[in-house]
Amino acid sequence: MENCVFCKIIKGEIPSAKVYEDEHVYAFKDINPAAPVHVLVVPKLHIESLEQLNDENINCVTHIHKGIKKVAEIEGINKDGYRVIVNCGKDAGQTVFHLHYHVLGGTKMDEKIL
Ligand code: 5GP
Ligand code: ZN
Repeated sequence: MENCVFCKIIKGEIPSAKVYEDEHVYAFKDINPAAPVHVLVVPKLHIESLEQLNDENINCVTHIHKGIKKVAEIEGINKDGYRVIVNCGKDAGQTVFHLHYHVLGGTKMDEKIL
């Protein structure tokens, strides 16, 4: 999608610190990390948010979750654990409208809202 920052990152038009890539997903370090490990896992297909998932594109969720496990292993946080966050829409504070899963770890996260 034109003018989508994450589509540009996937295409290599904007540089990123790649952590993992396969046919379906691209994973890269968040530019403004909220934890020692903060990686974004995105589908290569442009999907705006969880709300835009449908029967045609829902398979990407499987690929994203496999990608998250890969990222956790690569970053060495799979044993101690990690948090996965998806912001969906305005009230959740979503700022980039290309579906992305935040993978956070590398520290014990004490602040819990859930
Ligand atoms: P959201 O608030 O939409 O859930 O998260 C968007 C995330 O994308 C933010 O954590 C922000 O730091 C990250 N981000 C925005 N633009 C860029 C960029 O150009 N490069 C990288 N690596 N991360 C970005
Ligand atoms: Zn996009």
